[in-house]
Amino acid sequence: MLYFPVPITSFLLSFIFLSLLAPSSSAECINRDLSIAIDVGHSPKKPGASSATGVNEYAFNKIIAELLLKRLLMQGFKRSFIISQRNPEMPLHSRASFANAKRADLLISIHHDSVQDKYLKPWQYKDHTQHYSNDFSGFSVFVSEHNRKAQQSLIFADMLAKELLSLDFSPSPHHQEPIEGENRRLLVPEKGIYQYDELVILRRSKMPAVLFECGVIVNQLEEKKLSQKVYQQLIIAALERAILRFAAFPKETAYLDNVPLLPVPEPPKTLVSPQAPKDNKTDSDKDE
Ligand SMILES: [Zn+2]
Repeated sequence: MLYFPVPITSFLLSFIFLSLLAPSSSAECINRDLSIAIDVGHSPKKPGASSATGVNEYAFNKIIAELLLKRLLMQGFKRSFIISQRNPEMPLHSRASFANAKRADLLISIHHDSVQDKYLKPWQYKDHTQHYSNDFSGFSVFVSEHNRKAQQSLIFADMLAKELLSLDFSPSPHHQEPIEGENRRLLVPEKGIYQYDELVILRRSKMPAVLFECGVIVNQLEEKKLSQKVYQQLIIAALERAILRFAAFPKETAYLDNVPLLPVPEPPKTLVSPQAPKDNKTDSDKDE
């Protein structure tokens, strides 16, 4: 397990303090007027990653997004919506603008994860060659410091990760590997929370926003789990609990706007791979 200490700063103190303020389930404190914008990662024409058995990521994302919306409406969050419901091919910039125009209070972009090509191996599944990697599994949550409510995004990411851990999900450290396409800052290692500033949907949205990778669909065992209704319901339970906590969180957090994310500690000595970093060019307008 990776471990390194996070320096205590005023930001961290305010973060911890505010986290303690959030009641777990007191019904009368929950603001059900909150609008949750749910983004289905990718689109039918650009469906994202391909799973170990050849199912596209968009199909996985759509299931979770629709289940989540259903639960939120049942919980009384009537203003919640799926961003690309009417136009599944909506470009990323428009998705953020759409959520901004609807004055959403929280944005959750739903994704399912893959790994870098070098880890993928071919195998035959139902007479077709597919690609898999069983090297990594688990969830990841991304926040962007370029989002004007970066600290509030981090607070929600922390709530979500805590709920996932309480339901025995595990985070994946693979996005921190110092190679092209990864090299993300792992802000909270034990909770799988990464900093990824360039993600369009996160940096262009005006409300707290996270990108949530539910699990790794190129992993053969994890794909099986992610395809099961029971497992999907557990993911929804974690999201729902985290949203309830967030909806009970004090709304007056404007003083946290436009402040940098927690200082990031030095990279841990034990990395996923001993390879040296390649050309560390800046990504622009990334979509996971
Ligand atoms: Zn994706």
